[in-house]
Amino acid sequence: MVQVLDTTLREGEQTPGVYFDTHIKLAVADLLDEIGIDIIETGHPMVTPEIHAAVEAIAHRGLNAIVGAHSRSLRQDVELALECGVKFLGIFYCVSDERLDGVFKKDLAQAIDLISEVISYAKSQDPELLIRYTPEDTVRSQFENVISAASAAVEAGADIISVADTTGYMVPGGERSMFNYVKNLKTNLAERGHNPKIAVHCHNDRGLALANALDAFRAGAEIIDVSVLGLGERAGIVDLAQLLTLLATDFGMTRYNLTKLPELYELVSLHSGLNISRNFPIIGKNAFTHCAGVHTHAAALNPMHYESLNPELVGRTRQFSLDHMSGIAAVRYALSLVEITDLDSKDQSEILSEVKNIGQRGRTVELNELPHIVDIIKHKKQIIKKHK
Ligand SMILES: [Zn+2]
Repeated sequence: MVQVLDTTLREGEQTPGVYFDTHIKLAVADLLDEIGIDIIETGHPMVTPEIHAAVEAIAHRGLNAIVGAHSRSLRQDVELALECGVKFLGIFYCVSDERLDGVFKKDLAQAIDLISEVISYAKSQDPELLIRYTPEDTVRSQFENVISAASAAVEAGADIISVADTTGYMVPGGERSMFNYVKNLKTNLAERGHNPKIAVHCHNDRGLALANALDAFRAGAEIIDVSVLGLGERAGIVDLAQLLTLLATDFGMTRYNLTKLPELYELVSLHSGLNISRNFPIIGKNAFTHCAGVHTHAAALNPMHYESLNPELVGRTRQFSLDHMSGIAAVRYALSLVEITDLDSKDQSEILSEVKNIGQRGRTVELNELPHIVDIIKHKKQIIKKHK
């Protein structure tokens, strides 16, 4: 069974200009917990004392989720994270020849010694601690290096190996697919007697983060990293709401409470300063709004004509709005929704032409605006009568 790891508070804060105050971090963690997120990655305690305090506060909040922290492959980072009382530790270190040589001036054997030593130390401090080891930029590193480092990490006590597509490089169905990568990794580790859980961390540089995560899931990945609004470095990572909805509707995983998603997204949007685009799947203002004439008519008769997702799944309702694409049937239907039933067909046509005028100026007419348009049309009619 797949688990969802939310990293809005760690990866999300790597979005340029985004920082959540401690009380906001707590509110985000609470909502993630209410949704039923399995693992919450809360930050890297080494970065600042305030982040350290926030990680500690979330770890002691009594959440059902497993609370985790991020850590470089350094004993001092591990000590700081353990001080916070987390039950999950994500340790990262690169294994590609180019980075080891160019940045760290180490060979692979030295890197593996360092990784193993830090993992053994962490496990010795808390045998219950879940440890994830991530070879940074896993998918572009030499595969044999990844296998050697991952095997050593598991032998030292790592429970989870994370495949990081750090630069959003993978393409489903192509030569560099997550499906093949995860399959090969699992097979190669199993041949060495290792069966760690496999996590995937997919960046969205090519817009393929969700597709790659799904590809990895189909290949047997057990943990998927996500964030609210897909927040993260550059183009970010997999979006939480999209993944949870997909898991619920297409993979029978109904244990998450999706109705809390809109509240969580509003909170994160407000405090990250990132607006939710109107056409954002699941959460955007327009995600369940029917507008064009034929769509509205057909959707009013049977929503499934133009929807494959039920808005109630995420605690939302179907909306209808009117614009230049609307026809008389849509206007009549909208009028019935706001319980205006006393208009003759001439009035309805006038309303339609007003709606089309507004639509051509680039706006939609919301349902709650419709009674005011009706008022004006009635008013005009009375004036005309008076002057007759
Ligand atoms: Zn990342």
